[in-house]
Amino acid sequence: MTTTKASLAFPEEIVDEYVRQGFREIFLRPLSSYGFAKRNQNLLGYSVQDFLNFYRRGLDRIMYWNQRGVELREVYASILLNKMLSTFDAGYVDLQSPTGAGSSVLVYNYDGFVYPSDEARMLAETGDRSLRMGRIGESLDELLNSPVRQQLVEACDVRSMSDCRDCAYNLYCSPNPVDAQAQHGTMTFAAGATEHCQRHMALFDAMFSTLRAADEDTSALLHEWAQVRESCANA
Ligand code: SF4
Repeated sequence: MTTTKASLAFPEEIVDEYVRQGFREIFLRPLSSYGFAKRNQNLLGYSVQDFLNFYRRGLDRIMYWNQRGVELREVYASILLNKMLSTFDAGYVDLQSPTGAGSSVLVYNYDGFVYPSDEARMLAETGDRSLRMGRIGESLDELLNSPVRQQLVEACDVRSMSDCRDCAYNLYCSPNPVDAQAQHGTMTFAAGATEHCQRHMALFDAMFSTLRAADEDTSALLHEWAQVRESCANA
């Protein structure tokens, strides 16, 4: 589920409803500020801290149910735990360095062009066509060697970016150049000033705190969540 401003006050109620409906998975993720959502930011938007408060309460409620024998997996935590605990990466594109956008993902759009991700395609829909990699019909080689692809790779190399080079989480994380383009109009916006960075820095902190405080059962559950699943890669 993608959180809206109105839903931020009800993490426990939302989780309880998923349990009532018999779902086994829930994905607590923030609103992506693209297209319609970006145009209505004043109405729909909220701060990183507001989302983190919501997420923390939601995750606590999910743990509450798991401790009572109800199987419910939180997908965002699973993605982060997969990065931290597993030797088999689930291939979550937004945290790959270099980015998986434009290599593990190519979006062939009805407008005749190829984009590095669905979000890049959405950007084009609202007028920013700077992330077009090429036309449908161009060879894979041409697309992968396109200037856009080169810029994407350079804009998320954690070994060379000043904010990321010394970050404790650079093994698990990467800037998101498509999101930077959408929010700030350039793929090379300072990583540390992006919402993507601030959110993931805090979420990795939270995951390590949760792991450190975990008893044997909780630790086993978190390791189980870290296993590769299709929903992590497709998120
Ligand atoms: S948390 Fe921020 S600084 Fe650290 S690797 Fe991710 S984007 Fe870079």
